[in-house]
Amino acid sequence: MTPIEQRNELLAGKVIKSLRTRHIDGYYCATSADAIQKVKELMPEGSSVSWGGSMTLRDMGLVKALHEAGKYNLYDRDLAKTPEEAQEIYRQAFSADFYMSSANAMSEQGDIVNIDGNGNRVAAIAWGPKKVIFVVGVNKIAKDLDAAIKRARGTAAPINTVRLNRDTPCTLDGVCHDCHLANSICNQIHIIRNSYDNGRFCVIIVGEELGY
Ligand code: SF4
Repeated sequence: MTPIEQRNELLAGKVIKSLRTRHIDGYYCATSADAIQKVKELMPEGSSVSWGGSMTLRDMGLVKALHEAGKYNLYDRDLAKTPEEAQEIYRQAFSADFYMSSANAMSEQGDIVNIDGNGNRVAAIAWGPKKVIFVVGVNKIAKDLDAAIKRARGTAAPINTVRLNRDTPCTLDGVCHDCHLANSICNQIHIIRNSYDNGRFCVIIVGEELGY
């Protein structure tokens, strides 16, 4: 094991310990392939599954792997043919057995931070689907909650606006201007600091750089 791999495992272990004090399950997977396997283990055959927009889930091949598994009832908005169909899938996600998401940032103490433009993702995370599985690269772990919020707003958000070619000031210079535009992707900022339902949330920390 390289020093980086050792450090990733140690850091993940510290975060997972903190998550348990907040009634949130945690696992460490060294690679994306291991994380995909873990997600499949956690979701029984026949489960209904949906997910929020996430480069992590796509880039690591999780979405593709779930389609290929052929044993889940997937609510995939990317398959919608019209905006109305996509809206319907957003709503179906609230009744899913499992909802998957990455996080824009996490603190070493176990806070989970997500920002959202129209709110569908953070709404489903907060309430609705029976279980929520986060898959988070070690690059998303910040020193504390303040640093996690700064990471989400100052790093993740401008990269996403560039990716989506949003008409926002951060797309032009890569820096957050704390805009109040309606199409801001930072309209809603959600922090999980603790879980009401023991085990509704589960975080899989992956020892790789994933997403932004
Ligand atoms: S400028 Fe607006 S959209 Fe861009 S990161 Fe800041 S708040 Fe978000």
